[in-house]
This record gives sequence, C-alpha cells and structure tokens, in this order.
Amino acid sequence: MVALPVLQPRPAPATPPRSVRLSLTDRCDLACIYCRPDKRDGYLEDRLEIEAWKTMAAGLVRAGVRRVRLTGGEPLLHPAVVEVVAFLGSLGLDDLALTTNATRLARHARALRDAGLMRVNVSLDTLDADRFRRMTRGGKLDVVLRGIDAALAAGFDEIKLNAVVVRGENDDEIEGIVRWSWERGIVPRFLEVMHIGEGAKLKDRVVRASEMRARLAHLVHHQTEAIGEADRGPAKYLFARHDPAKKVGFITGTSDTYCKGCDRLRVAADGTLRPCLATNDGLAAGHIARGGDASEIAGAVHDAWKLKPDGEVWKGCTEPDAAAVSMRGIGG
Ligand code: SAM
Repeated sequence: MVALPVLQPRPAPATPPRSVRLSLTDRCDLACIYCRPDKRDGYLEDRLEIEAWKTMAAGLVRAGVRRVRLTGGEPLLHPAVVEVVAFLGSLGLDDLALTTNATRLARHARALRDAGLMRVNVSLDTLDADRFRRMTRGGKLDVVLRGIDAALAAGFDEIKLNAVVVRGENDDEIEGIVRWSWERGIVPRFLEVMHIGEGAKLKDRVVRASEMRARLAHLVHHQTEAIGEADRGPAKYLFARHDPAKKVGFITGTSDTYCKGCDRLRVAADGTLRPCLATNDGLAAGHIARGGDASEIAGAVHDAWKLKPDGEVWKGCTEPDAAAVSMRGIGG
C-alpha cells in the first residue's frame, strides 16, 4: 500500500465504486496554465501494459464498476487507446466515455466510435487562437476544432465541452462558448479553477459558478435550481430559455465541493487505485494487474475504497494538500 499521510483505512463505504476514471497515460501534449507548470514536469516511470489494463478493467467490473471514463494525461497519446476502448466495450458497461484535449481526435474519432466509445468530453477553454496558445502553452486551436468536427461526424451519443474559466483570461467568453456549443449540438460546461496542482496558484482568479450563471441570465433560467444528471458526476445544469433541450453545466469544485456521495475511483497510469481526486493517497495495484487475476483486482478495489474520505468533513479540492496533486497524474 502507498503511504497514507492523510487518509486512514476505515470500513469501506456502503456503496462500492460505480464509476472509474482510467488515466491511460499521464503524458500530455499541452500544459494548461491551471494544470501543470510546463511541458517538462515529471512523468511516471512505470506504466501498465495493454494486457495489464485489460485485467484491471475486468477486475473493476467484477468489483461493481458500471461506468468508465478514459482520461489522463491525454488518453489519445496512448498507442493502444482504441484497443483498450474495444476491450472495455466488450464488458457490457452502462457508460463508456473519454475526456480529451482533442489534439488527436480528428484521426481517432471514427475508430473510437466503432470500438464502442459512447460519449466524448472535449476540454476547450477559448475559441480564440492566440488565447488558446497562451492558456495551453503552445496548443493550436484549429487542430482541436477539426477534432471536434470529426467527433460530431462520428455520431457519438453525446459531446460535451469543458471550459475552465480563469479571470482575466477567458471569462469574457462564457456566452460565446455557450452559443457556439449549442449551435453544434454540444453541451457546454464551465469549471471553476480547482486548487489542485497549478490551479492552487490561481486562487485569486477563480470565477465562481454563481457569477457565471449571472452572466448567462438572459440565455438560461438562472434563478431555478441547477439540476444534476443521474450517474453523471458533479455537474449541475441550467436550461435554455428558448429551448428546454439545450443546457449548460457548471462544475463547482471550489465554491461547493461535492465529496458527499462521490462514487468515483481513479486508476493512475501505473495501476495505483486512487479513491479521491484531492489526495495523493492510494493503493498500488499495478503488480496485481500484471499478475492477470481479475478477482485479485476486485479485492484490491475493495481495500482501496476503504481509503475514501468520508465526504462529510473532507473538503475535497479545497483541502490544502490538494495543491500537491497532479491532475494530469491522477486522471482528472
Ligand atoms: N487531457 C485530457 C483533457 O485535456 O481533457 C484529460 C485530462 S485533463 C487533466 C482533465 C480535465 O481537468 C480538463 O478538462 C482540464 O481542464 C481539467 N483541469 C485540470 N486542472 C484543473 C484545475 N486546476 N481546475 C479545474 N479543472 C482542471
């Protein structure tokens, strides 16, 4: 077991993990200003091989997991991403999704859809090419837009756009991003900067969801209560005034931590089972996955789940220790 400076084992929560995020790789081709300091920060030495990922996935399902999201790092940098999706697609999951920066989506979208991927979230903070280059430290917006076009053409069940709002960078684009997304049948969502990793250095540039909502008052029913989606994580949605089928989501990791009821487990690229986004604690299970026995993974999941913070007193991403977590490393 990895050292546990913060969390102590306790009886496993009554509800086992239903949702898991697999960080296929901690590598990323961008360096977003709220995520990592530059493109040369360290990477994990140890990474699971494809067969070990399959054992891991089968073990997770045996432990009760019904929903899987591939993330990272940038999952589309992994050479076997389509093969992993195809394997996951054969497991009869309720949901199979991927979060990506879309720099390689144009070349992979069709194959991912054919392999069984259901939904895609694209992280995109701005529609301005200069800003995009600055916020990602070198990214090319046109490549990402081509990736989104390819995803739309591939016919996924749903495409969402995740934009982290940073005051003084892109907070004047909230309405523009909403309109642009709605025109394409994409669901826009806005994230508060979380005090994780480099985000901890941007505390004075957080735009709270309440302010974002107010800025969209003319477009959405902002005085009604924002509604969550069953089994779909912490985002809460407001609906368009002109069309109840259109909505915009908010993820409030800073103003309203949502640890209570969290049923998420994360698996890092080296096979460490990580029960909480906001700590570096976890249970090393890469060697178990390499052993090939899925039932042993299910046992490890049970043990890792005992490290889950209680969600009552734990304040998640606002805990001081969260600054030491790498979103890219943990599979954010
Ligand atoms: N590379 C993929 C991508 O770009 O979507 C997946 C990994 S990335 C770490 C997952 C998500 O975490 C992205 O939407 C990114 O914007 C978000 N993120 C990273 N650091 C964050 C922070 N400090 N606060 C809020 N969101 C953050």
